[in-house]
Amino acid sequence: MSEDCIFCRIVDGELPARVVYEDDDVLAFLDANPLAPGHTLVVPKDHYETLGDLPADEGEAVFAALHRLTPVVEAAVGADGSNVAFNNGEAAGQEVPHVHGHVIPRFEDDGGRPVHAVAG
Ligand code: C5P
Repeated sequence: MSEDCIFCRIVDGELPARVVYEDDDVLAFLDANPLAPGHTLVVPKDHYETLGDLPADEGEAVFAALHRLTPVVEAAVGADGSNVAFNNGEAAGQEVPHVHGHVIPRFEDDGGRPVHAVAG
């Protein structure tokens, strides 16, 4: 737990979030500023800033949650696909320094732009 970390405070229940999945290692919740309906964030419960800081077993837990959740999120919003991405480090646009994966649903009629164009 990092006291000044927004995602740690969500994991601890101090800040509200629309949680869609939880297990011992991982929490997933809807992004507060979604790039598409159903935009979901998957975070390890323990605080690590970037992917490189994340121990392998916790990385496996995050990937397992992404693997499980991605088709469920797509089905929930009727998406045709999704971008699953990590912004890793400030230079890459990571705004919250607690590693997190994005599941961004995509639709046939949304223009098919790559995720950096969608996010930008
Ligand atoms: O990858 P990056 O760090 O840029 O993404 C942070 C994401 O966290 C943003 O999509 C932002 O909308 C989301 N966020 C959130 N709830 C907060 C703060 C940020 O869902 N309280």
